[in-house]
Amino acid sequence: MVNSVVCVKQVPDVAELRIDPMTHNVIREGVPSILNPDDRIGIEEAVRIKEKHGGRITVLSMGPPQAKAALFECLTMGADNAILLSDRAFAAADTLATAYTLARAIKKYRNDFDLIICGRRAIDAETGQTGIQIAEQLDIPHVAYVKNVELFPEQRKVVVKREVEDHIETIEAPLPILLGVMEGLNKPRLATLREIIRSKNKEIKVVNVVELGGDLNLYGLKGSPTWVAKVYPPPPKAGGIIKSGGTRETVTELVKILVEKKLIN
Ligand SMILES: Cc1cc2nc3c(=O)[nH]c(=O)nc-3n(C[C@H](O)[C@H](O)[C@H](O)COP(=O)(O)OP(=O)(O)OC[C@H]3O[C@@H](n4cnc5c(N)ncnc54)[C@H](O)[C@@H]3O)c2cc1C
Repeated sequence: MVNSVVCVKQVPDVAELRIDPMTHNVIREGVPSILNPDDRIGIEEAVRIKEKHGGRITVLSMGPPQAKAALFECLTMGADNAILLSDRAFAAADTLATAYTLARAIKKYRNDFDLIICGRRAIDAETGQTGIQIAEQLDIPHVAYVKNVELFPEQRKVVVKREVEDHIETIEAPLPILLGVMEGLNKPRLATLREIIRSKNKEIKVVNVVELGGDLNLYGLKGSPTWVAKVYPPPPKAGGIIKSGGTRETVTELVKILVEKKLIN
């Protein structure tokens, strides 16, 4: 048996996001919310592990009440129950405060976990820090950029492949562990109508700050030692060299430039 906790975030669909040209702030109004794509991969992996080894999958999210929709989607994919951490005290959290909140909930509600799965990154704030910080707070190992997972529950170990810049690492590590998963690991399933109907009976527990307990100074804005000073589009790139015409001379000239710039030998 492998008990998993999958951390999922409801994010704005960034394809629909626009920057206000005057204030340079992100315009969130009217932007649809979706389940973070890496987290959908995390749920799929947890369900595949459950199908092979048994166990229970809890999905966990910190967010506003409407994040229930993302959690429900996870239930339709095969998760067993869901917890939504929702309170004004959790708002305006940076990644440290977010990780504190999620780690505290895991300790309080699912301390029997073998595996915690996070996405590599959330497509909105995109720091890729939250999973690593949860692992630190729970004092367990973590592996990020995971593209393949093989569980050996009897031996209390996992073998993962992680993709780094120009090679793939194979890592063997003990359970419990936190894995940061990324695209290419699996192809998430679409929920069947039967699962959608069945999921209406599954629990989505909503937890506020009083129920969660802990140190009030470590939640939300109060618990956030970092803040966003400014948001602005990157400066436009300087123009490159454009050579037109497909003649032997232009190609020779281009190759010469690339060699001079040491881009080719
Ligand atoms: C300096 C700073 C200030 C910020 N201030 C604010 C603010 O004022 N208001 C505000 O709304 N946001 C704020 N944010 C954004 C907020 O901190 C992030 O949404 C949150 O901490 C997660 O970081 P991320 O989106 O980079 O996730 P990543 O670290 O990229 O996410 C990796 C994975 O962690 C898990 N995860 C991340 N967030 C959650 C979550 N909420 N619930 C469950 N799992 C999760 C998911 O599995 C996800 O795939 C701020 C961020 C920074 C860096």
